[in-house]
Amino acid sequence: MQTQASKIIALLVFSIPFISSTYAQFLRVDDSEISGINAAQAKEIMNQHFHSGNLLKPDRVLEGVQVQGLAIQFVRLVKGHEVPVEGLSFKAQLPGSTSYNAYRSDEAGVIRDAKCESGNYSVSITLQSVRYQVSVGNAPYEIHVSGKCGVAQKFIFEETTPAGQAVAVWQTAVKAEKKLLKEASLAFWKRQITFIWPANGDYYSSDTVHLTLGYQWDVVTHEMGHAIYDQANIGVFGGGSHKIDECYSDALGLSEGWASFFSAWVHLNLRDPDARFEYMVPRRAPIQIENVPTDVCGKSQSEWRVMSFLWDIVDLHDDGETMEETFLHLLKDTLGMHASSIKSMKQRLIQKGWDSGKLELIWKLNFPAE
Ligand SMILES: [Zn+2]
Repeated sequence: MQTQASKIIALLVFSIPFISSTYAQFLRVDDSEISGINAAQAKEIMNQHFHSGNLLKPDRVLEGVQVQGLAIQFVRLVKGHEVPVEGLSFKAQLPGSTSYNAYRSDEAGVIRDAKCESGNYSVSITLQSVRYQVSVGNAPYEIHVSGKCGVAQKFIFEETTPAGQAVAVWQTAVKAEKKLLKEASLAFWKRQITFIWPANGDYYSSDTVHLTLGYQWDVVTHEMGHAIYDQANIGVFGGGSHKIDECYSDALGLSEGWASFFSAWVHLNLRDPDARFEYMVPRRAPIQIENVPTDVCGKSQSEWRVMSFLWDIVDLHDDGETMEETFLHLLKDTLGMHASSIKSMKQRLIQKGWDSGKLELIWKLNFPAE
C-alpha cells in the first residue's frame, strides 16, 4: 500500500507543476484595455493597497434606534445610493446565545438575531464561499465587524475604498451566482473561482479572475464570464491583447463576446432599447449592446458584435428581430459545446432544432460585413 501511495504522490509531484504551467500559459485571457488602467497604474494601486493586507473594516458605522437583539445591515454606496450587501456570512456565539450559529446577510443586507440582548460582539467575515472567493494575493479578505447588541447598526462601505472595492467584487459574484441559480443548474460550476483584487492587470487565467478596479461592475462580470465560459466549456479561448471595436480571430471574437454578453445578461434589463455598460473600455464607453456604432468591425470575429448577437437571442426588445430565447436554453444547448466560432455555435444550435429563420435574421442584423 505504502509503495503505491508514494508512487501516486511522486506522480502528482512531477505532473502537477507541468500541467498547471501549461494550462496557465494556454489560458491567459488578456483584457488590457478593458478597465482603462495600464500596467504602471495597476502597480501603483497594488503598492498603495498591499500594506493593508487581507484585513478590512467597513468604512463607516451608523448607529440607529434601540432594538431587540442583533440588527445589522451592510450597504455599499454606489454614487450615493445604498446597495445592500448580500451573502456576508460568519459563525459566532453572540452574547446571550448558548450556541455557535451561522449568520448570512439577506437580500436587504440584513442580519438579525433576537438573542443578542446586551453586551458587545466582534465577528470576522471571510469573503469566501464554495463557488468563489475575493482575495488579495492568495488570502481571502476578512472583514472585521464589531458592535453592540440592542442597537441597530448600519455598516457602510464606500465605493472606491479598499473595503468598498473588495465588497463590490463580492456583490458582483453573489449577483451573478443568484441569477444563474434562478435560471440554470450550476452542476457545471465545480471549481472555485478566485477574484484577485487588486491585480497587476485585468485578465482571466485558470479559474482566477484578476482585477484592477473592483467597483467596475461591467468589467468584473466580464472577467467572471471568462471563468463561467471556461467551466461550462462553451467554446475555445482566443489569446493576446485586443481592442473591442476590431476583428481578430474566430476564437477571440467568441470568447470575448460571450464574456461581455454574460456581463450584460447579469446586470442589464432585457427590455432596454439601448442597453449599455458603464465603465468597460473607457476609450469607447459607454459600450452599447443594442445599438452598435457603425465603425465597429462588422464581421463575426468582432467581440462587440458577437456580444450583441448573443444579446439579441435572449433580449425582449424587438429591434427587427423577435427571438426571445431564455438564457437557460442557450446555456443548456451550448454547455460542453466547445465551439470554435460564433458561426459554428449558430450552426450547431440550428442542428439542435433552433429556429434557423430567426437565428439567420439576427446574424444578418448583427454582422453587416459578413
Ligand atoms: Zn475578456
